[in-house]
Amino acid sequence: MVKNIPFNVATTSANYNNNLLRLKKNNHFSSNGQFTKKCEQWLKNNIKCKEALLVHSCTAALEMCALLLNIKAGDEIIMPSYTFVSTANAFVLRGGVPIFVDIETETLNIDPNKIEKAITKKTKAIIAVHYAGVSCDMDPILKIAKRYKLYVIEDAAQAILSSYKGRPLGSIGDLGTLSFHESKNIHCGEGGALLINNNKLIKKAKIIRDKGTNREAFNNNFVKKYTWVSIGSSYGLSEINAAFLYAQLSKAKSIIEKRIEIWNNYHLLFYELENEKKLARPNIPIYAKNNAHIYYLVLRKNIRDKLIKYLKSKKIITLFHYIPLHTSPFFKKHYKKNNILNNTDGISKKIIRLPIYPGLSKKKILRIRNLILNFLK
Ligand SMILES: *Cc1c(COP(=O)(O)O)cnc(C)c1O
Repeated sequence: MVKNIPFNVATTSANYNNNLLRLKKNNHFSSNGQFTKKCEQWLKNNIKCKEALLVHSCTAALEMCALLLNIKAGDEIIMPSYTFVSTANAFVLRGGVPIFVDIETETLNIDPNKIEKAITKKTKAIIAVHYAGVSCDMDPILKIAKRYKLYVIEDAAQAILSSYKGRPLGSIGDLGTLSFHESKNIHCGEGGALLINNNKLIKKAKIIRDKGTNREAFNNNFVKKYTWVSIGSSYGLSEINAAFLYAQLSKAKSIIEKRIEIWNNYHLLFYELENEKKLARPNIPIYAKNNAHIYYLVLRKNIRDKLIKYLKSKKIITLFHYIPLHTSPFFKKHYKKNNILNNTDGISKKIIRLPIYPGLSKKKILRIRNLILNFLK
């Protein structure tokens, strides 16, 4: 009997048991303990960002970005429509207005050539979402941001240990955000990090994470009693999650190597179908180093939903995303129409994401390819 092939199997290969036992000895379970510090140090060492703050989700990190940049009602933030809802929602919570720019068909990342036209006097920031863990073309984005004095935020939720021209993603913009949700390469159930490269934002970020208090200064004996100094919220990650996460981070490179092997297998096997113009494979530009978060295909015709159904009947779970944010009920109700986003509209209807997780065998990958080949005939 053929076995189910799920879309994702969250990694649990790292040895987190010892870390969890350690928690009891440390007698510290809330945020900001030893494991939080260890994870933050790991992130600083490996991503080369100036500061890394562990938080409870990438969504929380994005909300902190909006608070840090003092986003006010009517402020505009440029981003792709082809992204997860939190990229926009975090700013909308502060009254910000998402301004959507179309994506490139090669990477499904924001098209730098279309950003400048979207800038107005109200624009505050550009968000570069590194889709599938493949870098946006950052140099032109940074150039535009500098010219118009805009902040750059990297939504690197999917992009841990990927890089752009040798620079780790999350270390390039003023701010970067990571996700450790179970669906991501490295996870702790729910978790995230805010990466900070702009020195002016570090102190304020720590206060915002700590409910708007100067608790950090208190912990370091800089003040006698901590108190309310700013707006903020409770964004920290519990030590229970951080202990689990630290075990994963310690194995991050080997986890990602395994994913890259699978990614490369798919890529080779789908070469012919791309050559016959039956579909398009993902494209990794020379400036980008990939972390194999997603393997996707873009079909030529609107047969994606049928293919997902067909594969499901063969016990293989494949997914698609995103419903572009400019076509969502919430956006249509609250905002005026967005510019036309042809690539976003087209690709969101034709993309299919294939199973990818360490442990997915070559044999299964071949079976998936053969079934797709069969379907397209
Ligand atoms: C997963 C994801 C998020 C949200 O991450 P959480 O940790 O679940 O909040 C945000 N942006 C992108 C691009 C993502 O893929």
